[in-house]
Amino acid sequence: MKRIVIATKNSGKAKEFKAFFSEKNMEAVSLLDIEKDLPDVEETGETFEENAELKAEEISRILGIPVLSDDSGLVIDALGGRPGIYSARYAGEDKDDRANINKVLQELEGIPEHQRTARFVCVLAVSRPGEETIFKKGYCEGLIASTPSGDYGFGYDPIFIPKGYKKTMAELGPEEKNRISHRKNAMVELEDWIDSL
Ligand code: IMP
Repeated sequence: MKRIVIATKNSGKAKEFKAFFSEKNMEAVSLLDIEKDLPDVEETGETFEENAELKAEEISRILGIPVLSDDSGLVIDALGGRPGIYSARYAGEDKDDRANINKVLQELEGIPEHQRTARFVCVLAVSRPGEETIFKKGYCEGLIASTPSGDYGFGYDPIFIPKGYKKTMAELGPEEKNRISHRKNAMVELEDWIDSL
């Protein structure tokens, strides 16, 4: 079975990539599965693309094999695009999903539903030794709920209501999420490359 390394230590992302690639009869291996001590790549970029590139190139350079990375986040219109590239650490360095959600809800207090538009963004980068890095982008539009609900998924899923739905992403469950998510939409863009492997 063909394998692909995903440059992430985020177990929520890793699970979703495993599901996407198993449909292609491929095995996605995350940095959580690799015994080698790999660094936490510093996300010093100013865009999703720059951060995705940093992660894919650094890990591919160390391992000497093709690596896929994902830089993603939640862009909220009423907050001028925040938390954006700072989504993971919005409420602090310990990347606490609950604290991040609480901070967003506090900042949106009093903002009516029609002004709570937002989107998840995912940029995938594939880095291969000696070749140009390639990028693919996917979006998922929606609204920010006023209270969290649901236990599936990770990150901001409990407060994100995808467009056309009445439930949060965390209530929908993995199969539905993986059909409509920003990550799925970016993966679809990557399909030709995956098929050529
Ligand atoms: P990254 O690891 O620097 O790309 O940070 C991604 C962060 O964006 C995560 O820690 C979450 O806070 C948020 N995020 C990205 N994708 C999702 C998703 O599918 N659901 C919920 N939150 C997400």
